Amino acid sequence: MPETMRTSSPKVIAVANQKGGVGKTTTAINLGTALAAIGQKVVLLDLDPQGNASTGLGVPPAQRVSTTYDVLVGERPLSEALTATTIPGLSLAPSDPDLSGAELELANAPRRSYRLRHAIERFRDRLADQGERFDYILIDCPPSLNLLTVNALTASDSVLVPLQCEFFALEGLSQLMRTIDLVRTNLNTGLTLQGVVLTMYDRRNNLSDQVASDVREHFGDKVYTTVIPRNVRVSEAPSFGKPVLLYDLNCAGSQAYIALAKEVLRQERGQASERNKELA
Ligand code: ADP
Ligand code: MG
Repeated sequence: MPETMRTSSPKVIAVANQKGGVGKTTTAINLGTALAAIGQKVVLLDLDPQGNASTGLGVPPAQRVSTTYDVLVGERPLSEALTATTIPGLSLAPSDPDLSGAELELANAPRRSYRLRHAIERFRDRLADQGERFDYILIDCPPSLNLLTVNALTASDSVLVPLQCEFFALEGLSQLMRTIDLVRTNLNTGLTLQGVVLTMYDRRNNLSDQVASDVREHFGDKVYTTVIPRNVRVSEAPSFGKPVLLYDLNCAGSQAYIALAKEVLRQERGQASERNKELA
């Protein structure tokens, strides 16, 4: 893709899995931070009414002046909701508890599944007009397949699925895949599966290995080589309002998220060169 197109067109990735506690927010924060650390400009869009991504990045409710609720329900421009974080290159569109009522508020709104998509389209146009660049928008989805998640999937180029290495990991995944198919058929034909990332992997636990090999059998090369280990530093970091990369750069969790960011970039470059070959 020519650089000029890329500059005005951030890739939008929904971090989604309707199961709670699988590492969506942790992945959105730390992949976002790691991508920013290797030179990418990233927006983390917090679409979970619980606002864990916003808190985890050290942006408390009092500092959330304009939020993703205002963008989705109030049609406020996304650019106005962006707030800087302590990480250079990473901006946050913070969440709002009012998001939990968005589904009802938008019940009769026309094209209600397209609200976020339209906001991001306007944001892209604005970036192009102003000659500004963002490379990625990561959307931290809530733990359900509700209208918020449908908005995220409709607005996204791809879906990144964090999967916790535990017994019930694969349960519910088929429901997520069906939802992705439905969105692709009805709302967003371009939606692809970015990949599956195994989280909270515990190498002392045989079950982790079993889950990992089942998932690899099912999803093949869509599963990232990088596996995120269960690491206490990762779970401590949010209470300090920091990504684990700022809290303890050398811990296994930080290093894994850096490796994941590099793998995502390699994947992107691989896909771009495939496209160029097709065009040649
Ligand atoms: P979700 O957003 O899918 O609900 P979270 O990212 O909030 O999941 O993670 C759920 C819990 O697990 C959080 O307390 C988080 O700190 C913890 N956690 C996530 N990833 C790891 C990890 N790699 N090691 C240890 N704890 C983790
Ligand atoms: Mg979460």
